[in-house]
Amino acid sequence: MRMLLFSTGLLLVLLIVVLLFNTLRLPNHQLAPEAAAQKPDLDPVVTVEHLAGALRIPSVSHTDYAQTDTVPFGQLLTYYRQTFPLVHERLRREVVNDFGLLYEWPGSDPSLKPLLLLAHQDVVPVLEGTEKNWTRPPFAGLVADGFLYGRGALDDKLNVIGQLEAVEYLLRTNYQPRRTVLLAFGHDEETHGKLGAAALADLLGRRYQQRPALEMVLDEGGLIKTDGVAGLAQPVALVGVSEKGYLSLELTAQGAGGHSSMPPALTSVGRVAAAVAKLEANPFPARLDGGVSALLAYLAPAVPFGRRIIFANQWLFGFLIKKSLVATPSGNAALRTTTAPTIIRGGEKDNVLPASASATVNFRLLPGDSVEAVIARVKKLIDDPEIKVSILGDGRSASPVSQTDNAAFTHLHKTIKSVFPQALVAPYVVVGATDARSYAHLAPQATYRFMPLLMAQTDIDRLHGTNERIGTVAYQDVIRFYVQLLRTDL
Ligand SMILES: [Zn+2]
Repeated sequence: MRMLLFSTGLLLVLLIVVLLFNTLRLPNHQLAPEAAAQKPDLDPVVTVEHLAGALRIPSVSHTDYAQTDTVPFGQLLTYYRQTFPLVHERLRREVVNDFGLLYEWPGSDPSLKPLLLLAHQDVVPVLEGTEKNWTRPPFAGLVADGFLYGRGALDDKLNVIGQLEAVEYLLRTNYQPRRTVLLAFGHDEETHGKLGAAALADLLGRRYQQRPALEMVLDEGGLIKTDGVAGLAQPVALVGVSEKGYLSLELTAQGAGGHSSMPPALTSVGRVAAAVAKLEANPFPARLDGGVSALLAYLAPAVPFGRRIIFANQWLFGFLIKKSLVATPSGNAALRTTTAPTIIRGGEKDNVLPASASATVNFRLLPGDSVEAVIARVKKLIDDPEIKVSILGDGRSASPVSQTDNAAFTHLHKTIKSVFPQALVAPYVVVGATDARSYAHLAPQATYRFMPLLMAQTDIDRLHGTNERIGTVAYQDVIRFYVQLLRTDL
């Protein structure tokens, strides 16, 4: 008995030693503070007005491109030319599919691979019936109480105009980059990006034939969240290193049809409903290795010691981390390939058995899960040979996970620290879709999704929503960030 107590005690001590050892030797991934980035000599009233002008042009894209009014897109091209004359005088500009833009700013050293900045010119529509909820009209570009209001203020015209503003400024100071800088602005990001991003990426792939073709790609995606990341009081610059994949499956069951007075034991509607219920009851396993683990490793040095022990010993406390994360939809989405039944169809009359019924289920794939593996798991779970499983549209797995220990990420990290010294930097996996996925093959190790904007959750909620707005002071840092990113050498 004493022996047992002794060995249990010894094991416990050993465990504590291991936990503390792991915690104390945890590497600090945060780079030291940088010298503050210079503030470009720009009038904030003028730069905000430049962005406001773009917000007044309603470049709304519709899923059915035939419904898209293309006139505003033409107006935007003219607007850029008028607002940023030096950019249009000194950079080479190409147009794809009428409105997709590629600007090339040749570097002094042609042996270096280009740096590519992305942004998109289109915006989502204002939901019908919500117009009256906007305190400032969505396409008026009005400033009130330190905010510029308008559809596209956050997604994504701040990046289009912010990048052009930074390049115009640098041209005015006669700066020439060492590395070629490319800007690519698609015009249908909100509707899958086939005409814009895909065509622009294609053009770049043909022009730059080396692989990888580009040194670094930077698109929208993450941002600097000022509240609520891992309970930290400090803002966290979330840099997307990958984005989740996308797959929609249709589950179809055929029935005999006929009158509902003599139904079979299992109808096509019943079969499909049972299949959907099985999928929802059996979510994909929650995993830390799909991005969460890396995020926590970057944040660990900043959290209180107790939590640091947990972050540093995910082998033991992983279950605790998962348990707390799955409690929210966003945490859950970060942990697993998600399953979302979105459409269910079958039958038209209350007393007629439908000949067929179907359901559509949308999956967002975490890095590490392939389209084939998802389909195989779905079929196995449903376990009903009478249900046909087919892919709708193009399925894709997550985009390649970019590195955090290369020169490109370090450059980004340092630039963030020089403009936002108070922020922690952390890699994460973007849950939604961005144009960057079309370009990822041109720089699979160095495609990042991040916009240099400080935002609280209440403002993040306005993305694609009502009263989208950007802080006029925060916007100055967007420009400052792009100036610093281009002015310092990568
Ligand atoms: Zn966007």
